[in-house]
Amino acid sequence: MKVGVVGGGVFGLAAAIELQARGNEVTLFERGPIPHPMATSTDVSKGIRRTWYGNGGPYIDLVERALHTWREWEEQSGVPILHQVGGLKIMRSMDPGSPMYENLRYLESRGADIKILERKKAMSRFPQFVLRENEFALYDKWSGYIESSRAVELMANKARDEGVAVLDNTPVTGVDEDPSGALVSTHSGPQRFDKAVIASGVWSGGLVPEVGKHLLVTLREMLLIEVQNPEMFRHEVMPVWSDDPDTAGWYGFPLMREGIVKISIEGIGEIVHPDVDRSGSQEFHDEAMEYLRWRIPEMGRGRVKERKACLYCATPDDHFVIDWAPGTKNLLVATGGSGHGFKFGASIGPVIADAVEDIENPFGQYFRIADRFNIPEQTRSVTDSRGYAIPEQDSLN
Ligand SMILES: Cc1cc2nc3c(=O)[nH]c(=O)nc-3n(C[C@H](O)[C@H](O)[C@H](O)COP(=O)(O)OP(=O)(O)OC[C@H]3O[C@@H](n4cnc5c(N)ncnc54)[C@H](O)[C@@H]3O)c2cc1C
Repeated sequence: MKVGVVGGGVFGLAAAIELQARGNEVTLFERGPIPHPMATSTDVSKGIRRTWYGNGGPYIDLVERALHTWREWEEQSGVPILHQVGGLKIMRSMDPGSPMYENLRYLESRGADIKILERKKAMSRFPQFVLRENEFALYDKWSGYIESSRAVELMANKARDEGVAVLDNTPVTGVDEDPSGALVSTHSGPQRFDKAVIASGVWSGGLVPEVGKHLLVTLREMLLIEVQNPEMFRHEVMPVWSDDPDTAGWYGFPLMREGIVKISIEGIGEIVHPDVDRSGSQEFHDEAMEYLRWRIPEMGRGRVKERKACLYCATPDDHFVIDWAPGTKNLLVATGGSGHGFKFGASIGPVIADAVEDIENPFGQYFRIADRFNIPEQTRSVTDSRGYAIPEQDSLN
């Protein structure tokens, strides 16, 4: 089969690698360089963890598979990208029946060794952190982070090595289908494929508005900080960390190759246009530093080297979308990473490829559109002329 893939982020590359490995003839179109500086996948680091995903569904299986494959790709390429430095989650409660409690029990039933550290123990093991009287921490040594831009580069090289025609600096101007297949148009005209995969992240609405109008494009900021005492933040002693998502939601990374640590915050964020300015705000800068000054004081004394923003491409229920665009048979949409998609880059390829090849996949059902977009009227149903969700106040102007 001839397959055209639009987008050289983690979803598009994963699809291209797997489809080519199955004997298909794949062409991948990326509008700019790979990694693209504005792509959601392009960043210094993305967390890999399983203490988040409840007690079932697709994600725990998929993330464990992904970890093995990231390792395999890393070994094959000789490019280190995966750092299992452990993950510390600061909590205030974990009542039986709560999602976190269920998640922990479920992971333990699968053999995971996750420690509950009461406050004093947590602070003596990780003296970088200050925990308050009512706080404790979970520690999963399995967790860590992936150097995401390097991982995207690795995947693009792997795709090329396996025979994918990777066309960078080739924007796709439209996708369409007719009874015999898919048409992918660029400035050089349309190209015919049997199937097309649209994995253009926050820009997907420009190509498939009927899906785009249900995607929330939102902005999350981050700070990259140079610390005065790097010894305290090296991999051997500093984990990836997160604060209780129900109350604070801050999270961050240890000292990375670039000599910086990173902090950001969970949550959906402000709805924006995909081409919004990505430089961070003074307000976020101040809030993050104020938080760090008491939570991780040594980090709070650091110098902010860069502030910037990244865009979530969120679905109404935060599950990815891997399905035919409504009313089509040859245009498959693979997007909706919803702020947690990167880590699955090494395991989502087979799910996308099975969808393209109409093969039953145990995880596929979770990502079908079905009736997931039948949600009450709200801001996300307001779209601009290109199909992007836009904030309500803008739509009134
Ligand atoms: C602040 C932040 C923190 C995150 N943290 C984590 C984390 O810790 N762990 C985790 O697992 N995930 C995390 N994520 C989510 C993760 O980064 C995304 O789910 C994932 O990177 C999405 O990849 P993608 O391939 O769908 O999109 P992208 O990476 O955006 O790729 C889409 C590509 O399509 C290209 N493109 C667009 N339009 C066209 C066109 N017309 N023609 C050709 N090419 C086109 C773009 O240039 C781009 O390269 C985070 C996201 C954000 C914003």
